[in-house]
Amino acid sequence: MDQINKLQVEAIEQGTIIDHIPIKIGVKLLSLFNLNIINQRITICLNLPSSLIGCKDLIKMENTFLDQEQINQLAIYAPNSTIKQIKKYKVVSKITPSLPDFIKDVIICPNNNCISRSELIFSSFIIEKNKNNQQLKCIYCEREFTNHIMLIK
Ligand SMILES: [Zn+2]
Repeated sequence: MDQINKLQVEAIEQGTIIDHIPIKIGVKLLSLFNLNIINQRITICLNLPSSLIGCKDLIKMENTFLDQEQINQLAIYAPNSTIKQIKKYKVVSKITPSLPDFIKDVIICPNNNCISRSELIFSSFIIEKNKNNQQLKCIYCEREFTNHIMLIK
């Protein structure tokens, strides 16, 4: 971690830092978690240098903690991210998200003809984990997709 990143981490008294987010995903996470509407100080850093993944996004949220469902959702978009919980300027826990088996109402089915695109129903996907990749299967049209083409609502 370079000096600038270090200072950003230390500047937070209480809250959460999501680190090692793939680039271009940081902004999507803001809307996924409704971070743009909560009444807290949110800092987002885009295209930070990373020794681990080359370039990364980072989100710092004051007085805000992710629940288990949000952590699971994070696994879909940023499977190698790190979630650090900060209390009194110290990292009290460090979590790597793991994939849920099922995800609801977070992503849009890429199939334009899918009933979940036209009706007022929640999209739902079963997540099938293989060794190196993950497939998301829509429970309505039963098509399978990789996470790379999924759209966040
Ligand atoms: Zn579908």
